[in-house]
Amino acid sequence: MKFKDYVKNLDPVPFVFLTITPLAAAALLSLYLYLYDLSWPFVLLFVAFYSATAMSITAGYHRLWSHKAYEAGPLLRLFYALFGAAAFQNSIYKWSVDHRLHHRHVDTDLDPYSINKGLFYAHMGWMISKQEIPDNAKAYGRDFEKDKIVMWQDKHYVAIAIAMGFCLPTLIGFVMGNALGGLVFGGLLRMVALHHGTFLINSACHFWGAQPYTNKNTARDNIVLAFLTFGEGYHNFHHLFATDYRNGIRWYHWDPTKWLIKMSNWLGLSQNLKRTPEIKIQTARWTREQSRFQQSLEKLNHSWQLRVRELQTKVDTAQARFLELKQEYKKLKAQKTEASRRKLIELRMELKIAKQEWKSYLYQWRLVLSQAPQMA
Ligand SMILES: [Zn+2]
Ligand SMILES: [Zn+2]
Repeated sequence: MKFKDYVKNLDPVPFVFLTITPLAAAALLSLYLYLYDLSWPFVLLFVAFYSATAMSITAGYHRLWSHKAYEAGPLLRLFYALFGAAAFQNSIYKWSVDHRLHHRHVDTDLDPYSINKGLFYAHMGWMISKQEIPDNAKAYGRDFEKDKIVMWQDKHYVAIAIAMGFCLPTLIGFVMGNALGGLVFGGLLRMVALHHGTFLINSACHFWGAQPYTNKNTARDNIVLAFLTFGEGYHNFHHLFATDYRNGIRWYHWDPTKWLIKMSNWLGLSQNLKRTPEIKIQTARWTREQSRFQQSLEKLNHSWQLRVRELQTKVDTAQARFLELKQEYKKLKAQKTEASRRKLIELRMELKIAKQEWKSYLYQWRLVLSQAPQMA
């Protein structure tokens, strides 16, 4: 979107809020550092408030309410509603309706933060310019009408946001001996930093990074952004499998939101965590990889093409066998009997061999495809 369009469609309240708050945060931080020394308790207050509000957005607003990736009890929902409001990113209701529209109409004119209107627009430009609300937007939030916490938070959003986002940290700061420190580190500075952390998911996560699962939309996986956004950076995976409670699916993927949800499940605060079956994930990856090399394949002569296709079939079969065995292994592991324990040892060996076979065919397929002579 062009500068003159922003001027024409400017929405004054969010514009003033989003421009004044960073300036106010910088001014108050300077004042604080002029008057006092930076101390560890206030750095910790920043980290604690940043984490609580950020995860209320990622685990609450996003994965719980927007996508229903799991269910949570009233205690956890109330926590997310209170600390999510303190992030000053609108109510659960409005945030989730926008986000559902984003997923449903990604990259089109109906996408509230479409990257096709520019990086700045997707980051924050969409909030400072007046938008036409689609006629059917209400239908996207119909299920919330039964959720008392969502409706209560929507009704009193501004009061809750101010109380939780500014008053509470100032009060904690006062108890710690410095009310200004509380307001700066737990309130204003924390809110501004979190704003841009969250906005990066709509902008940078649709611009920089890899597309291992699909290129049918602009969403990207970006590990650096996953670090900055409590795991939301695996956005290519997320756009394809939005109801999965995880965004980083491997155990080593940096996704603190997934760990928090899992932990809340162990504590009995949440249930019915949804996971995408491994077969679907691997099929999407493999389909994407094949489509990426389709052009190279078409440039090979007939006999090389046949060789590649033959290897492709072998990858398919080996992959299916590995995933089948993995499923069997999981089932057996859950039984916990003496017989199942013995069978598990055998199965673990078989699983190792099947994995090696699959990876080896995949490696050969990539090798042949990259080294085969191409036709002019
Ligand atoms: Zn997105
Ligand atoms: Zn989402």
